Amino acid sequence: MKTKYSLLLILAGFLFLQSCQEKTAYRALIVTGQSNHNWKASATILKTILDQTKLFTTDIAQTPKEGGDLSSFHPDFSKYNVIVLDYNGDSWPEQTKTAFIEYVKNGGGVVSYHEADNSFPDWKEYNEMIGLGGWNHRSEKDGPYVYYSKNVLVVDTAKGSAGSHGPQHEYLVRARKADHPILKGLPVAWIHGKDELYSTLRGPAKNMEILATAYADTSKRGTGRDEPMLMTLTYGKGRIFHTAMGHVGKEDTHAATECVGFIVTFQRGAEWAACGNVTQEIPIDFPNVACSVSRPDYKEVTLSDDLDKIAKYTIDKSTRNYTDLQARIRKVSGNPAALLDLEKQMVSILKETGATVDGKKLILRELAWMGSDYCIPAVQELLKDADLKDAATFTLERMKGPRKI
Ligand code: ZN
Repeated sequence: MKTKYSLLLILAGFLFLQSCQEKTAYRALIVTGQSNHNWKASATILKTILDQTKLFTTDIAQTPKEGGDLSSFHPDFSKYNVIVLDYNGDSWPEQTKTAFIEYVKNGGGVVSYHEADNSFPDWKEYNEMIGLGGWNHRSEKDGPYVYYSKNVLVVDTAKGSAGSHGPQHEYLVRARKADHPILKGLPVAWIHGKDELYSTLRGPAKNMEILATAYADTSKRGTGRDEPMLMTLTYGKGRIFHTAMGHVGKEDTHAATECVGFIVTFQRGAEWAACGNVTQEIPIDFPNVACSVSRPDYKEVTLSDDLDKIAKYTIDKSTRNYTDLQARIRKVSGNPAALLDLEKQMVSILKETGATVDGKKLILRELAWMGSDYCIPAVQELLKDADLKDAATFTLERMKGPRKI
């Protein structure tokens, strides 16, 4: 009998845990189906990016194609915590627009992604939600230009059209509200992958905070201003995260959305829009001012990926995985057990006959300052290897001195 009750208790516990886990996931809906961009590709990319957080279960709502009959397009927004707008096309039916306004007013979350800020130039409430928009005959009638100039926020009511960009290029994104939950813990500046740099956006800009800007260099047909790239807004009880980045065109590669800076700010912005908070950890591979970082398959790089690449490293290859490993070491530097675990995995590369000399040299360079007694026999073994003798000697010598961590 006792066993039977124990089993029931375990089962009840399991079901309880499962229901808790389900409750922690947010539901996201990507609205797409019409755009001057490659929405078929972008909708899939955005779903991949969101689902990868394990915080979101993401659906895609697709409108009929341009010029089609939208009268039956009525997604049930109220089922979702966040609506991601990947849409630039025909007007929605009045009933759908009203439902969307009610959803946001009542506390719903919204992410306005890239070309969504081109959409619906005549829908007043929509433009209040996104704050700034471009193209589609927007002008001074729609609100001011908003940008930074020499570190000062400028609200510029000058006459003129809205929306422009030069050729795609990599550019520096700079935090303006580094303590906002979406940006907290990220570098204050980082290089963004090749993308359009949306400029001269204008709109009501009410209840809006600019989280990050990018300098639109005149050498790239830019405005010479720091243009808003990431914004947050409130509308009623609702929260809106607006990213102007992430162009996805007809090309097979999509550098803008593969950029780790885009991926991570999108994931964090979506969580903030859904609940007003951000719980995601900052990944090891977040870019900085040195260079952009890409995830061609959108997957976060694991330690095992890094070690595999380092084991095959030759001097002509990227040191990206080595940089990742260094960041992983720094991250656990106050945790001796985690550091030893990392050391053991690094030492396994030293013992691997198939690993390259250059790869082993990188490992030796790190062990020189973070290695413990554990690695010494493996390093001593390399003294017999003519190609690695000097590097191994250096590591053993350094290990005799004071450790940095
Ligand atoms: Zn674009």
